[in-house]
Amino acid sequence: MKPLFKGKGQILLLIIIINVVTFCLFYNLGVYHRMKNNYIKKIEIKKLNKEAESRKNIQLVNNGDETNAIINNKDQRKIAYLTFDDGPSPNNTPKILDILKINNIKATFFIIGKNAEMNPELLKREVKEGHELAIHSYCHIINIIYKSPDAYVNDIKRCFDIIVSIVGKNSFNGKLIRFPDGSFSVSKQFRNAIAKAGYIYVDWNALVGDAEKPTMMPDNYLFDRLKTTTHNKSHVIILLHDAASKKTTTEILPEVISYLKEKGYTFDLIPE
Ligand SMILES: [Zn+2]
Repeated sequence: MKPLFKGKGQILLLIIIINVVTFCLFYNLGVYHRMKNNYIKKIEIKKLNKEAESRKNIQLVNNGDETNAIINNKDQRKIAYLTFDDGPSPNNTPKILDILKINNIKATFFIIGKNAEMNPELLKREVKEGHELAIHSYCHIINIIYKSPDAYVNDIKRCFDIIVSIVGKNSFNGKLIRFPDGSFSVSKQFRNAIAKAGYIYVDWNALVGDAEKPTMMPDNYLFDRLKTTTHNKSHVIILLHDAASKKTTTEILPEVISYLKEKGYTFDLIPE
């Protein structure tokens, strides 16, 4: 039988085959790595959500000088400070940013460092669209971060470093923090330690109750909690969450904004 190619033709065919095989090999390796990374990301997000959801009955808390200064501000205007904890998450944060953009509202995001590492583009988008970044925790695992005052200071420093590495020093002041579960959940030693390290903290005096139960809360529950906790208050620091599991928070956000506007509130960022 005659060979298909002779001499140069055979070499050319061989080169083509080698190239095709190498391309397929690298392509499949790329697909494998992407699948593996996505899987690891999903596991990490699941772990964080499980941890966040295990903390029930978050109290309404207004504690500390910074919080009180904002709440008792003599400004005659009604002001709402929208604050989102535990993000960024790939499913909720982009939608929240879209809603805020449509309404021309700037909000404060209390970041989990681990989530920032997994979603750096979302952090950059938050900054680009004029929102404020603040520190919540690097890992948000309560029994690790609250082991000692030093443990929490180290945890927030780690979160600070991650945020700076993503958005740069010029876009991030890095002084403002929010204690996971609120400042009431830690002793005075913790509050003193973060003050000594140069941070200020802020709690909240209104909420939608999206972290009050381990399950996802229905829209009407969240909306009722908003109405009750903002009632008769002229300056409201509202606790919301943009963690991956808080889908209903994202769903009711347009209504939350409409309600607050109707009640005469304007929106502002937490002063640092
Ligand atoms: Zn949190």
